Amino acid sequence: MGVVAICAVAFLVHSLLKKETATPTKSTPTSQSQKSAEKAKSSTAQTSESKKDKNLPDSKSTDWDLVLVNRDHPKEEMSPDVVQIDNIWVDSRIGDATEQFLAAAQAINPAEHLISGYRSVAYQTTLYEQYVDQEMTADPSLDREAAEKKVQTYSQPPTKSEHQTGLAIDLSDVDSLNESTTAEQVAAIAPEYGFVLRFPEGGAASTGVDHEDWHFRYVGVANAKYMTEHHLTLEDYLKLLDKK
Ligand SMILES: [Zn+2]
Repeated sequence: MGVVAICAVAFLVHSLLKKETATPTKSTPTSQSQKSAEKAKSSTAQTSESKKDKNLPDSKSTDWDLVLVNRDHPKEEMSPDVVQIDNIWVDSRIGDATEQFLAAAQAINPAEHLISGYRSVAYQTTLYEQYVDQEMTADPSLDREAAEKKVQTYSQPPTKSEHQTGLAIDLSDVDSLNESTTAEQVAAIAPEYGFVLRFPEGGAASTGVDHEDWHFRYVGVANAKYMTEHHLTLEDYLKLLDKK
């Protein structure tokens, strides 16, 4: 399976590269987005205080579907057992959930499609370097450090991207970041399939990543519903579980 997966991933690199090389664009924050950011912040504070919530799922921060990979928690190549869903690869344990979530999203908007899923550390290295080059070409006044800082608002360095877990997917009706016309409706149904919008507006303080309307993370249905209801990022939620 490992060899098959590696070959298949290599085969996909070309098409994925084509899709991901477009420099993501961002929409200007609106007063409404600021409002929801504030709302998320205050809800987070309230929830963190109520430690003995009986509805808190009986999960552990060490559960496979709660694995944390970010800039503070790098991981070497995880080599998950993957399955193909449409044109992307995901951890085989979330194949059905991904398929069902995609179908439900397409019922909302037929243009919804999977953009990216599992990415090996090697592939993430290629992608990241490409983004850094693009930023330095677009603005020659940037040095590498400044260019990397810019890139990290939308793509993470190798070993620090959640895409290497096989539990993250990018799903949108367009191939540009934060330009989806049905992002909110899709995010609203995500928990029913075990997914959360991983980088919500107002979540950068805990995630270190700005809003991404297309990046969903599988955490299991109970966790996803709780996190969404209480406006918790994965980082917030893991802290809450460890306090139990
Ligand atoms: Zn992503």
